[in-house]
Amino acid sequence: MTAVDLHTYTRIRRELHQIPEAGFQEFKTQQYLLDYISTLPQEHLEVKTWRTGILVLVHGTAPQRRFGYRADMDGLPITEDTGLEFKSQHPGYMHACGHDLHMTIGLGILTHFAKQRMTDDLLLIFQPAEEGPGGALPMLESEEFKAWKPDQMVGLHIAPEYPVGTIATRPGILFANTSELFIELTGMGGHAAYPHKANDMVVAGCQLVGQLQTIVSRNIDPLDAAVITVGKVEGGTKQNIIAETARLEGTIRTLSADTMKLIKSRIEALIHGVETGFECRADINYGSNYLQVWNEASLTGEFMQWLDERPGVELIECTEAMTGEDFGYFLEHIPGFMFWLGVDTPYGLHHAKLQPDEGAIGVAIETVTSYLTWKSQQ
Ligand SMILES: [Zn+2]
Ligand SMILES: [Zn+2]
Repeated sequence: MTAVDLHTYTRIRRELHQIPEAGFQEFKTQQYLLDYISTLPQEHLEVKTWRTGILVLVHGTAPQRRFGYRADMDGLPITEDTGLEFKSQHPGYMHACGHDLHMTIGLGILTHFAKQRMTDDLLLIFQPAEEGPGGALPMLESEEFKAWKPDQMVGLHIAPEYPVGTIATRPGILFANTSELFIELTGMGGHAAYPHKANDMVVAGCQLVGQLQTIVSRNIDPLDAAVITVGKVEGGTKQNIIAETARLEGTIRTLSADTMKLIKSRIEALIHGVETGFECRADINYGSNYLQVWNEASLTGEFMQWLDERPGVELIECTEAMTGEDFGYFLEHIPGFMFWLGVDTPYGLHHAKLQPDEGAIGVAIETVTSYLTWKSQQ
């Protein structure tokens, strides 16, 4: 990487950082990327849009395979609190999951191969709506994607906890199965002094929050792993009115698809009990569901060995994480892997103060372009 390149990519990252948008609303982001892509040598490029996403095919010199790199595009409904000069210009939205870096790295990889084509084809995938409602699955099912489906996929995600110059991954499961959880309880409101004439959903909701905690502790094998977190509880209108409704919002995370099924069936059984016991109605909605990210063992092992023998980047064999990623849907159909890219910041993903070290952009572009070039020669 030359200094000029890094300067350009830092500027691109900062410009993208200022325009975070919600899933499937990435209109400015899409336009920004298209404008940049139009400045590249076009002879061997084909560009298609799919909703707010973009697919760019770089034809190889003598292609036998097609490699895919995916970057997600959306921001989060978080008010940025970094105090940075280039902070978000969209009130209440922030690139707090590093997708601005993921896209910048994607443009860097694309630029490299548009100028120095490899033998095989490269498909650059800019995917909307990773944070929700989930863009990977509908994109995979689209005619646009199917026509250019790659044979192997690579993806990465920034990792606040690792230093710049570090890459972490593992064969097998990397990210968990995840599901959102929304429960709506409807009883009967009333005067606070006449509880016998009402059905109090604050009491029912509190009981249910307690009961949900028994699923992981009492129904899941202690050697398996799962999380149920209720992150938001809402109910009632005023201190002296019995609440007619209550709403719980949470998330479920598991290391296997079977455990996810088991947890959902236990939640449904407990909810049924609350309905009977409190004579109320309970509605459940699982919102967005993401499949685990499963790194194909031989490709991941080969990548790790290749990386380990290269100077400059430190490889860490990490453990699996309970975070979710819809890249898992790509890996369900296409062999490949994802890795964590160290960006060294004290704040975690989805934090209003997240401030990834931009030095990681060059590390990622260099690593992925060198890996794909090497792989293409194999
Ligand atoms: Zn995220
Ligand atoms: Zn993310």
